[in-house]
Amino acid sequence: MHTHILPRQMPNWTAKFGYGKFIHLESNDDGSANMMQGGMFFRRILENCWDESLRIKEYENYNTHVQVVCTIPVMFSYWAKSKDCAELSRFLNDHIAELVDRYPNNYIGLGTVPMQDAEEAIKELERIKKIGLVGIQIGSNINDENLSEEAFFPIFEACSRLGLAVMIHPWQMMGFESMKKYWLPWLVGMPAETSRAACSMIFGGVLERLPSLRVCFSHAGGSFLPTLGRIEHGFNCRPDLVAIDNEVNPRNYLGKFWVDSITHDIDALKYILQLQGSKRVCLGSDYPFPLGDLEIGKFIEESDIPIQAIEDMFSTATLEWLGLEKGYFTK
Ligand SMILES: [Zn+2]
Repeated sequence: MHTHILPRQMPNWTAKFGYGKFIHLESNDDGSANMMQGGMFFRRILENCWDESLRIKEYENYNTHVQVVCTIPVMFSYWAKSKDCAELSRFLNDHIAELVDRYPNNYIGLGTVPMQDAEEAIKELERIKKIGLVGIQIGSNINDENLSEEAFFPIFEACSRLGLAVMIHPWQMMGFESMKKYWLPWLVGMPAETSRAACSMIFGGVLERLPSLRVCFSHAGGSFLPTLGRIEHGFNCRPDLVAIDNEVNPRNYLGKFWVDSITHDIDALKYILQLQGSKRVCLGSDYPFPLGDLEIGKFIEESDIPIQAIEDMFSTATLEWLGLEKGYFTK
């Protein structure tokens, strides 16, 4: 977990709704497609972004048979009118649910919901549960508001009640406009976004109030775990600033949430394992995008990490996060 997918055929949402900069696809002669944001080029994507059997084949090259699949964060469209975002979310969720139906041994799905409107979001969560998705992917911020805001709490509460897992994915990176050079939004902004989300959910008491909510922070938790010492020190030395909504030390939450293994650095992964325990570190890939671990855990297999911990990362951690039985895919 996780991988990103798009339906090859999508309405032109901008034309349909008559405003905004929704994403639609335009085909290229070489078989690739351009993601267009309104009328502007956003990103070129290849067949493995939508071709279900090609994706399975590419995964099999690395002895991996199951993908936790979700949309691409730019599709979230939290800025849109909530009923339009709800319609777009239903379209994407139905596509993934149908994919999971056809390939139950290869795909397991996460949905998307209109986070800007708790009532609409909860309606879609209930539908998501019915159509067989096992959780949702949400952004690290919602229209620049942090996940500690009370407006989002009912959504987390509903996920907890429905037993749906939550994956936090960085997007709309802070500082984007001021650091476009050198791909810095992806290299600096994304890890910071994930830490922003983790700090907000911890300091805002979301994890404290919903102890059975299963949350996974992608990209190994971004800069949260590597800077936890500083975060904890801040909590201790300035409780007047930090501990205003939750008195529990942030270190206390280690092992109570999940992160993935996408570190590209075996020593960083070992440190994260030490903090989290191997049952709380999922094999991550971020396939098919270039910043992901596209060799799906090869650097882990080639390491001296004990086999039990590797097995935990390669299956147990993700199954526990998703609330699935061991053996779900092998029965
Ligand atoms: Zn991703």
